Formats: sequence, C-alpha cells, structure tokens
Amino acid sequence: MANDNLSAVIYGPKDLRMENREIAIPKAGDTDSFATEVQINVRATGICGSDIHYYHAGRIGNRVLDPKNPMVLGHESSGIVSALGEGVKNLRVGDRVAIEPGTYCKKCDRCVEGRYNLCYEMHFSGSLMNGPNHGSLCRYANFPEHLCHSIPETMTYQDGALIEPLAVAVHSVNKTPIKQGSHALVFGAGPIGLLVAATAYAKGAEHVTIFDINEHRLQFATEYLPKIKTVQLPLPESDTPDLLAWSQQTIEKLVTSGVIDRENIDVCFECTGVESCIQMAMFAARRGGVIMLIGLGKGRALLPTEVMSVREVDVRGNFRYAHAYPEAIELVSQGKVPLRGLVTHQYKLEDTLEAFDKVMKGGAGVVKVQIGDF
Ligand SMILES: [Zn+2]
Ligand SMILES: [Zn+2]
Repeated sequence: MANDNLSAVIYGPKDLRMENREIAIPKAGDTDSFATEVQINVRATGICGSDIHYYHAGRIGNRVLDPKNPMVLGHESSGIVSALGEGVKNLRVGDRVAIEPGTYCKKCDRCVEGRYNLCYEMHFSGSLMNGPNHGSLCRYANFPEHLCHSIPETMTYQDGALIEPLAVAVHSVNKTPIKQGSHALVFGAGPIGLLVAATAYAKGAEHVTIFDINEHRLQFATEYLPKIKTVQLPLPESDTPDLLAWSQQTIEKLVTSGVIDRENIDVCFECTGVESCIQMAMFAARRGGVIMLIGLGKGRALLPTEVMSVREVDVRGNFRYAHAYPEAIELVSQGKVPLRGLVTHQYKLEDTLEAFDKVMKGGAGVVKVQIGDF
C-alpha cells in the first residue's frame, strides 16, 4: 500500500493536477455516530460525465471552479478500509467497500422523509454544490461509516466502483412501474443507459429496446445484454426548424414500420439529456406510461404537454439515488445485473491525465474508464 496521497485536483478548464495531499485522520462522530468516519484506501474510481464536465469547462451550470480553492475530483469509488475514526461500529480495517459519495444532513425535511438525495445540505464528492467537496480520485479519502457499503469477496474493486452508477439505475427503475412482463425503451447506450436496461431486466422487464445514434455503442449493448433490441436513431440537423415535429415524425416512422410497439411501452428511460430524445420519449410512451428523465443535458426542452394531459403520460425526474446501494450490491452479487465488460479501460492513478484524455477522445470501444490500483 503506497503511503502518499496522490490526488487528482481540478483548478479550472483542462487544469487537472496530480498533487500529493495530506492523509487526513478519520473523524470521530457525534452521539448517534452518524458522522463517524473511516479512512478508505481507494482502489478503483470510474470517470463520470460530471468529472469530464469539470475537466472540460471548469464548471457545471453556474457553479464555477475557483482556482484559489481547487477540488479533488471523483465519486465512483471502491476501496479497502485503512483506518477507523473513534466510535466506528460496523467496519474493520481491511473491509472492502463501495463508497456512497454524498454526505447528507439527516435532519432536513427531505432527509427525514427518506429522500436524502434531495438534501438541502448535500455534500457530494467531486462536486461544487455546497462545496467544493473533495472527491475520491486519490489514494486515501475519509467517508462517514454509514456511506461505506461492504462488498462481498466475489466482487472486484472494478465492480465495486460501478455500484455508484448502478445505484442511479436502481433508484430510477424503482421509481417507475417496471415489473414482470414490462416493456421499456432506453435512450442512450452509455454506462447509465446500459445499467438501466440491465436493472429493468433484473426487475422482470420482458422487452427492452435501447436507442442510440452510435452503432458501436449499440453493438456493445448487444454484447452486454444479448436479449436487448437496438435501434440506431438519426441525428436531427442542427438547423431543423421544428425539432418537436421532427421528433414526433421520427417516432411515428418507427411505430408504423413496426420497430416499436408503442401501446406496449410502459416506461421510457431518457439517459441522454438531449432535447430531441426527451421529446421522442414523450411520443413513444403508451397511454398512461411513464417517462423517467435521468440524463442531464442543457436542462431545457420544449415538451408536448398534450401527451401528459390527453395520454396521461407521467414525466418523472431522477437525481442520483437514496437507499439504493444495498440493493445494487445485492443485484450484482446474486448475478441479476451483469457488470462484465463495462470497464473497457484502466489506468494507474499516476496516469490520471491520460485516462481523462481517453474519455475526452471517446470513440469506438470506450464505455467506462477507471483509475486505480486494482
Ligand atoms: Zn457519476
Ligand atoms: Zn438533509
């Protein structure tokens, strides 16, 4: 075990520096041990879209990095417990864990009602909201004990770091009526779309169709989930005068040619955040169906509200997860959700900049890039 704390620190656009930071002592908690920390020797961290946003633009929305107050990136991590704060009850040094990277207050109304992903005081690793909150793309990081979920011996660190995006999938599928025999459409064959499709199958969905514009991603989807049906979508021209009409026509063509069976589509999972995809999801759902918005795009889209009123299609949103880690870990350890093949590229922590470069370049065959000591 290396005893430096090499960390990936973001200062601004394209300004990611590898620095050796102090290894902090895990804190003792309050009376109910809610904040009692353990120190984790991080072994695997996945690079996610939000890390890339900070790397590329130095901001997410109106939250901008301050170079005088830089931030350690990373939030999709697993590792091994290397030290205990005073009062730790359930973990031991040497335990292997998946890290849930959002510290919530446990006191506000949203936390009390169990929707802690909506906590007003959320401190999410590698995010600027209520921060900067230092992330886990480093050798050692401290987290509250209750956010470190034990993973079984059979689970690799790579799989442990995929529990974070899988938790997003589990949380979102649980908020829809997916059950035995359901039909689902998934927009976007990136890591989240693939995990959503896998989770829908695990919960009994009979038919899942995945849409993407990229044939390589669809090819990968078929290798990952052989049962899945794939459809390559056209891309609207950037000067399409009426995007909503284009989206409607695109779906009508798929319906009339029999590619999708609209009156059987119970849930559309939108994992791209792209306006035309959000619109297509609305036109593709059956009467009384559900649209689950997961992808974060521009945050603005023109929607056909008549679909919501006349067809009673429910549009729901998803932000991260609450109480989803234990179920995500169980789905993987019981073999109900496969993770094999999702990590397509691995880099050492020392080679973090190379890893970011790989994600930025993208291209065929890049699904999930991870960094760490595996
Ligand atoms: Zn993420
Ligand atoms: Zn709260």
